[in-house]
Amino acid sequence: MGKGDQKFTVYKFGGASVKDAAAVKNVAKILKRNQTKPLVVVISAMGKTTNALEEIVTLTKKEKDITPALQKIVDYHLAIITTLFKPNHLIFQTFERLINQLTISSAKLSKNEYDFFYDQIVSFGEIISTTIISEYLNEVGIKNNYLDARDYIITDDNYREAKVNWKKSKELISKISNKKGLYITQGFIGKSSRKKTTTLGREGSDFTAAIFAYCLNAKEVMIWKDVPGMLNADPKWFDKPSILKNISYYEAVELAYYGATVIHPKTIKPLQNKNITLYVKSFLKPSLRGTLINNNTSKDSLIPSFIFKVNQILISISAKDYSFIVEDNLSDIFKLFANLNVKINLMQNSAISFSVCCDNDKSKITPLLKKLTKQYKILYNTDVELVTVRHFDTKTISRVTKNKNVLLQQKSRTTARMVMKDKV
Ligand code: ASP
Ligand code: MG
Repeated sequence: MGKGDQKFTVYKFGGASVKDAAAVKNVAKILKRNQTKPLVVVISAMGKTTNALEEIVTLTKKEKDITPALQKIVDYHLAIITTLFKPNHLIFQTFERLINQLTISSAKLSKNEYDFFYDQIVSFGEIISTTIISEYLNEVGIKNNYLDARDYIITDDNYREAKVNWKKSKELISKISNKKGLYITQGFIGKSSRKKTTTLGREGSDFTAAIFAYCLNAKEVMIWKDVPGMLNADPKWFDKPSILKNISYYEAVELAYYGATVIHPKTIKPLQNKNITLYVKSFLKPSLRGTLINNNTSKDSLIPSFIFKVNQILISISAKDYSFIVEDNLSDIFKLFANLNVKINLMQNSAISFSVCCDNDKSKITPLLKKLTKQYKILYNTDVELVTVRHFDTKTISRVTKNKNVLLQQKSRTTARMVMKDKV
């Protein structure tokens, strides 16, 4: 970077922030107000488009007609474009061309290369949204350059969960590091060494923002959300959650690990490595400070944070002859979980049993229990919840365990985790 060059800022706008024409106008307003440059703006598919495109893939796999599902995607975007642009604008042709490409790609879908085709189809959500938004911004006087993220983020060909080739991506992204303007690009997508579109895993757009920030040695990243920042509890379960004003990268990773969903877990590491400040801010109330995430650990312990996972199952596994559960058994058990893709949210072992708590996803748990029962004695509890309290004290513990039977409890210096069931 030459002398006097400004460091990049990276923004990320998720699906909810561009879900309709009013939301897109709001993004333009935010960009007008924050004229920070150079700036890369990473944008997701509009609203729930990714789910709608997944539906297309599923229907095709089942050899069902995709026409109505595709039409819904077309209508949804057309409603947005019609509100944002004049009737004779070029965007209508561009959009039609993209939909034609999507239709052709869908027709090519083959069951054999399911993950590959999934990425070729689902990536259209981001391509369409950024095409519309870049054009709209230019239209309202916010001059910007459209970047195809696939020319910058290079991955392996592990479709649907592609791993980033940092060396190659850095080489390509560095090419824009001496530029000055505003760049609009897609979250979630990249390109494999076979030059085919890949995706980085669901909700991967935060990670895209972190990749650009890392490779550009950016000054800061701002993730714009529909919440006022990172909260100490999900408003779904808590009446008055508080905003975590300043937490450390370490704390953010811990919260994400236990199940906080505000930022994608993979986002933090690249930012921490380069000490790039991360802000989580509200696109509805952009004047609020939001949450600042950086190296500062001194405020981490000020507010207890609560993470709830409901609809859990607690499974207790013991040997049929009541012998000890030893390493051999454990390695068998873990293999079973891994093969069926069951994520363990919490585990604990005692002399004769090994207990695990996981999401009670029937499609995975039913075959798991069937397999386990062949070799082990199995007991389980359904309708349990797992609550994690960071920076707990006695008051917070009694608050969350009120009217609950605690079936299992783990405490470390900073974190208490409880598997509990409603008292009847
Ligand atoms: N559009 C993708 C998804 O919904 C990526 C993202 O929004 O982060 O998973
Ligand atoms: Mg999304």
